[in-house]
Amino acid sequence: MSQLEPVRIPAGHGKAVRLEAGAKVKLINTYGTQVVDCWALNAYDLTEFMSMESTRATNVRLNPILGDTFLTNSRRAIITLVEDTTPGIHDTVMAACDRHRYTLLGAKGYHRNCQDNLIEGLQEIGVTLPFSIAVGFGQDNSRQR
Ligand SMILES: [Zn+2]
Repeated sequence: MSQLEPVRIPAGHGKAVRLEAGAKVKLINTYGTQVVDCWALNAYDLTEFMSMESTRATNVRLNPILGDTFLTNSRRAIITLVEDTTPGIHDTVMAACDRHRYTLLGAKGYHRNCQDNLIEGLQEIGVTLPFSIAVGFGQDNSRQR
């Protein structure tokens, strides 16, 4: 299995990478306490994607722990958490932020957000989502373990 070159994610932005089945990806939050949202999609069928609803129902917990597998909306494994060094608690409940959330919070004009970052990241590798995915796998650093 080949190793990909490291992908740097500028603050407030998103990136997407194509992975083969069985590949590992390491997300490193180099500084700060920003949430790092994560999505996973089946590259051969974009209507199959990581589903927090399916994952919670199978793992029977709201906050993933080491060794947990994340399932797609077809209840197939798509990601397994094999290493975890965050001091935060992983979240599967809160929807990723979007432009509507920032408008409700009083932001004037456009505010960068995780959903648009997902779309931009996918577009950079030539993928267009046929729909919106609201809930990614995120990390909430406001609550420490
Ligand atoms: Zn966000």
